[in-house]
Amino acid sequence: MKRIAILATGGTMAGVARSSTHLTGYQPAVTNVGDLLADIPEISAVAEVFGEQLVQVASHDITDDLLLLFAKRILQLLEDDDVDGVVLTHGTNTLEETAYFLNLTVRSRKPVVLVGAMRPGTSMSADGPMNLFQAVVAAASPESPGRGVMVVMNNQIIGARDVVKTDTLTVDSFKAPVFGYLGYVIEDQAHFYRAGLRRHTFDSEFDVSGIKALPKTGIVYGHTGDSRVVIDALVADGFEGIVHAGSGTAAISKAMSAGVRDAVNRGVVIVRAPRSSLGILTRNMEYDDDRFGTVSGDTLNPQKARVLLMLGLTRSNNSLDIQRYFDIY
Ligand code: ASP
Repeated sequence: MKRIAILATGGTMAGVARSSTHLTGYQPAVTNVGDLLADIPEISAVAEVFGEQLVQVASHDITDDLLLLFAKRILQLLEDDDVDGVVLTHGTNTLEETAYFLNLTVRSRKPVVLVGAMRPGTSMSADGPMNLFQAVVAAASPESPGRGVMVVMNNQIIGARDVVKTDTLTVDSFKAPVFGYLGYVIEDQAHFYRAGLRRHTFDSEFDVSGIKALPKTGIVYGHTGDSRVVIDALVADGFEGIVHAGSGTAAISKAMSAGVRDAVNRGVVIVRAPRSSLGILTRNMEYDDDRFGTVSGDTLNPQKARVLLMLGLTRSNNSLDIQRYFDIY
């Protein structure tokens, strides 16, 4: 039987509301990993599991330092021959960012599966217990090694690069709108149908083992009537990289362009990503990246583009090197 580590970080799965009909207005990150596992004794039929409470937070409070901590602890566990895979419980708000960060930094073929819940554990028809059970099924599946970090929610297995939280409330919030699901979990089996081709996990060049702090990176949101004020503030605060979430094909307004130009001249790497979140953005697409020294974000949404930019900056602050990362990860 496979031995799977369950690392808990909080979120709604560990949430407590004042009644079983309250789906919002609850307190996230309360229930500890021991109690989450006690809710699903059925798990002992599919894997041997052990729990560890990494942190107890709502996922919008996850910092870049915590991302580093998660990656390092998972790597440490996976180096142990007695551990076959990891399941990380996580709040849904930023789950896609942590999933993509781990997809780029956990240099191992052993499965890593992220899971959350849209309903607090106290609610009627809570989705957490089944999601956690299915995440363990996926992590223990003989088909899972080498597929990169995966998210399991609501029966679906989704690649970390593709997964997007699409809805504030419903249990089917997690989707892979552009490239589709990797497969399904049904009962005690994972069924796979496809795999992504972008580099990840065992094939990644991002080694965070010796890194103590990640480069400061942020996101600026383009909108009608925007100005360069926010981008200037980030640059003045020492940000090394900024994602500009632009309208349409990640367009940058004239007003913002002046700020972008000055930022690039000061060595800040600017990545363009579409605020509509879906679709491809190739280099020079309706904006002269070659001329302005910017980077195009490929198919990544702004929050995932920030994750790749941040890791890219651990290796280079040359915009063409960063572009290469966006072309292959
Ligand atoms: N509402 C969030 C969740 O679904 C809270 C969080 O992200 O921690 O888990």
